[in-house]
Amino acid sequence: MEPKRILIDPGHGGRKPGAVRKGVLEKDLNLSIALKVRDFLINMDAEVRMVRTSDVDIPLRTRVKIEKALRPECIVSIHCNAVKNPKVRGYEVLYCSDEGQELSEFLDMYIGGGNEELKSRGIKYNPPEPRSNRLMILHDTVSPAVIVECEFMSNSAGLKWLLNEENQDSMALGIARGINSYVNPVAEEPVNEEQEKEKEETSDGGNSD
Ligand SMILES: [Zn+2]
Repeated sequence: MEPKRILIDPGHGGRKPGAVRKGVLEKDLNLSIALKVRDFLINMDAEVRMVRTSDVDIPLRTRVKIEKALRPECIVSIHCNAVKNPKVRGYEVLYCSDEGQELSEFLDMYIGGGNEELKSRGIKYNPPEPRSNRLMILHDTVSPAVIVECEFMSNSAGLKWLLNEENQDSMALGIARGINSYVNPVAEEPVNEEQEKEKEETSDGGNSD
């Protein structure tokens, strides 16, 4: 089987820390988990590209450009969550396209299987309107795109969970398994010629909305 090209996008970086709680910067957690996802995917024979592998600020527009030039099987953006309510915990996966939804479902299933403490908040559709809530990495990219919000930094147990190396490993393994299952559908599945044709036609348009 030919290796599938995957683009991993660790959120924020450089002078953009993302959420900050108790001196912990979201950009560092995102990168740490994303690098683990990369390593797991390489072990699953994927061809992995990273938007960043160090603490640098890459504008969203540039991230979108990288994705458009690369045309990966999918782009998975990795973030950690923070809200005002300190009680909220769990992970969620955001999408805007049908393909993104399918990928989200795989991720939701595989991330949850890896760790007792990890609770799914489900998959969430990000609509194009209002513009203020529109997530560029989902709407402006052309491949199936998702954002994984790993856990809440705004919950003290959640933050502690995120800082633990083994937890990061299980989160990253779940993400990698979800991606792998999405890009390499099981061989036993009968190939339906009609569906294959339809796929070819719809994947040509360039707009995933
Ligand atoms: Zn973020």
